Amino acid sequence: MINLVLFGPPGAGKGTQAIYLAQTFNLVHLSTGDLLRQEIAAKTDLGRIADEIISKGELVPDSIVISMIEAKLKSPKTTVGFIFDGFPRTVNQAHALDQLLRKHHSKVSVMLCLEVDKKELIDRLLKRGLTSGRCDDANEATIENRINVYNEKTAPLIHYYESQGKYHPIHGIGEIEEIAARLKETVENL
Ligand code: UDP
Ligand code: MG
Repeated sequence: MINLVLFGPPGAGKGTQAIYLAQTFNLVHLSTGDLLRQEIAAKTDLGRIADEIISKGELVPDSIVISMIEAKLKSPKTTVGFIFDGFPRTVNQAHALDQLLRKHHSKVSVMLCLEVDKKELIDRLLKRGLTSGRCDDANEATIENRINVYNEKTAPLIHYYESQGKYHPIHGIGEIEEIAARLKETVENL
């Protein structure tokens, strides 16, 4: 199996690039952010909890997102592998993912980190907010908090994967196709 962790700050382009990678390598795309938004749209209990946290730009508790991923990995669909988009977001989640994959006799193959500077991230998210209808894209204070939460809780994962020789930084600015080509090349060279 190939299991890709697509990593980077909010607005780095994970969701966009995950779709390309999934097509190119025939992988199942798992986005915990998308799964949480589905819960919000369906007005489930979990959705109500998630909505409140997401609109502040904070992280949904580890236990919740880990359970969501566990359920997806258990579902009987056969695949050559997965793309994890927006998960893991904490070191604790990364440990849990390793454990879950081990149960399936598999592991994380690589962590692809999209690198985009803060000014560009804020510009992209504000622009996305005009059309996405996402409450967490709508104001600059929430965006700012998401980036701070990323730096504090999520960025430490770079060291986690680097120490395992799995960290691959990718320049995340340019045309979408160009960045997709950079990612593809990195995966092909594994
Ligand atoms: N979120 C979370 N854990 C996850 C995925 C998403 O807490 O595993 C929350 C978090 O509040 C985040 C928001 O959902 O800011 C949107 O996440 P998504 O990955 O969709 O946003 P992106 O970073 O791609 O803009
Ligand atoms: Mg996303």
